[in-house]
Amino acid sequence: MSFRKIDDEKDIQMSSISDNLQKIKDSLPENITLVAVSKTKPVKDLLEAYNAGQRIFGENKVQEMTKKWEQLPKDIQWHMIGHVQTNKVKYMAPFVSLVQGVESLKLLKEINKQAAKNDRIIPCLLQIHIAKEETKFGFDTEEVTTILETDTFKSLQNIKVVGLMGMATFTQDKNQIEKEFQQIKTFFDTLKLKQETQNLKLEILSIGMSGDYKIAIKNGSTMVRVGSAIFGERNY
Ligand SMILES: *Cc1c(COP(=O)(O)O)cnc(C)c1O
Repeated sequence: MSFRKIDDEKDIQMSSISDNLQKIKDSLPENITLVAVSKTKPVKDLLEAYNAGQRIFGENKVQEMTKKWEQLPKDIQWHMIGHVQTNKVKYMAPFVSLVQGVESLKLLKEINKQAAKNDRIIPCLLQIHIAKEETKFGFDTEEVTTILETDTFKSLQNIKVVGLMGMATFTQDKNQIEKEFQQIKTFFDTLKLKQETQNLKLEILSIGMSGDYKIAIKNGSTMVRVGSAIFGERNY
């Protein structure tokens, strides 16, 4: 009897991933890309989302993402959304489809080097520090402006900066979150006015997570990264 009960609970949990996914997809405007953030979740959960039509997944650890890439269908697009150590770049370079959250020129150079080895051009987003918390990673806006003008950046032919990514402060204060999203949107629009180069073409503004994606969409998001609202709370 007790086995039976566990099975039933599993079934209930499994069907809810596709339900959650469908609800979120229905609520998103058509031009918004949904990244299903599957960090810490088992392959079977990703497969359920996959079977419900989801093809873009976000992970924050290179090793975990690589393992899942090996096990899952090859038409999945993998986004690295976390902080990446330079010595790990080589493992994801063969397959990663977007590196969100690049926050140093050093990392950009390493991605470029490993992309070249794989004969690829790897799309990247620069992470902008918009939150009040010091702990969150990212560039200051002035740093980005400076870096994009350096010869070093211009010489990186195997990366392409296609947008910006930001994380708002973890707070219930909607006005604060909105202010932070407006700040990155304004910067995004300003940067877009600059001349495009071979490795710079801003199209993606990746803002919004489970708790704040609706606010992000109101403030110019083109890509949302949603985890717990699809897969449930994470147990670390
Ligand atoms: C974990 C994570 C998310 C998803 O967070 P949820 O609140 O579960 O939606 C989005 N972006 C980044 C960078 C993350 O690390």
